[in-house]
Amino acid sequence: PRLANQIAAGEVVERPANIVKELVENALDAGARRIEVDAEQGGVKLLRVRDDGCGIEQDDLALALSRHATSKITTLDDLEAVMTMGFRGEALASISSVSRLTLTSRFEQAEQAWQVTAEGRDMQTSVAPAAHPQGTTVEVRDLFFNTPARRKFLRTEKTEFGHLEEHLKKLALSRYDVAFTLRHNNRVIHQLRVADRGIEQERRVATLLSPDFIDHAIHVDTEAAGLQLKGWVALPTYSRSQTDMQYFYVNGRAVRDKLVVHAIRQAYRDVLYNGRHPAFVLYLELDPKLVDVNVHPTKHEVRFRDGRLVHDFLFRTLHQVLGNIRP
Ligand code: ADP
Ligand code: MG
Repeated sequence: PRLANQIAAGEVVERPANIVKELVENALDAGARRIEVDAEQGGVKLLRVRDDGCGIEQDDLALALSRHATSKITTLDDLEAVMTMGFRGEALASISSVSRLTLTSRFEQAEQAWQVTAEGRDMQTSVAPAAHPQGTTVEVRDLFFNTPARRKFLRTEKTEFGHLEEHLKKLALSRYDVAFTLRHNNRVIHQLRVADRGIEQERRVATLLSPDFIDHAIHVDTEAAGLQLKGWVALPTYSRSQTDMQYFYVNGRAVRDKLVVHAIRQAYRDVLYNGRHPAFVLYLELDPKLVDVNVHPTKHEVRFRDGRLVHDFLFRTLHQVLGNIRP
């Protein structure tokens, strides 16, 4: 089974950034209010994600590292309206099969924390006592130490860290109610406090995107036909031409979707698009039954039950918002 994990790892784990995404999503699923990410050498040498979530019971620790050991789906109905981020039950198994992984956790009211380790295909099934406050720490060292072919595909430290930071940004923009810290080689890169109020949320956006994004953005907050769009879209005076300042969330999940991109592009182009890449942070909320988020394992794509409705709503809303400020 550990070999199967290594094969499966090919689908989930391509680089440190994928691991950060999986581990942070697990922490969010566990109800964490504070998540700390430590990376060394772009995350290849070390990735550590620490949370203050519900923790894992001693008896479930070893199980968490085995394939398809998800605690998140028990019925088919759950699949229909899956509210947690992860559900495949193979992230930890996959990651541990291509690294040296330590999982340390203290379950809610438990008196003691416990730890389990896995090194490539060797998993130590015995659980050892450890010191840890309530919550979980997953430490991933020496990524791909046992799969040199895959290690060769890793890029420079700077590039790998860039990807990792981008994944964390995406997640931090989806959960203002959670505090995040990101350190690289022991240097603090981002320190984000819980942002309950609008002004604090704008501060988080400014910190993560760029200080002047908010200064050049309009706030969006529109609801129609059961659809809701909130967030910020940059004005054309915002002269950055980066393609990567585009954050779109559907029911709290980061999504890269052709239909969405098309609707936004068209609204910009129609009103005032001037050749630059639009910059935005937008949150679409709709009935979970009207959207299928499980189209692809990495879940960046979605399938709307009524694509036209969503497209028209996005287009009209942004068309109006941007049209109102036409010079
Ligand atoms: P999935 O998230 O798809 O269920 P994972 O391999 O990511 O699968 O995790 C396996 C299981 O380990 C989870 O279902 C959960 O029960 C437990 N787990 C993993 N990370 C955490 C965490 N940070 N806090 C609490 N439980 C966790
Ligand atoms: Mg998971």
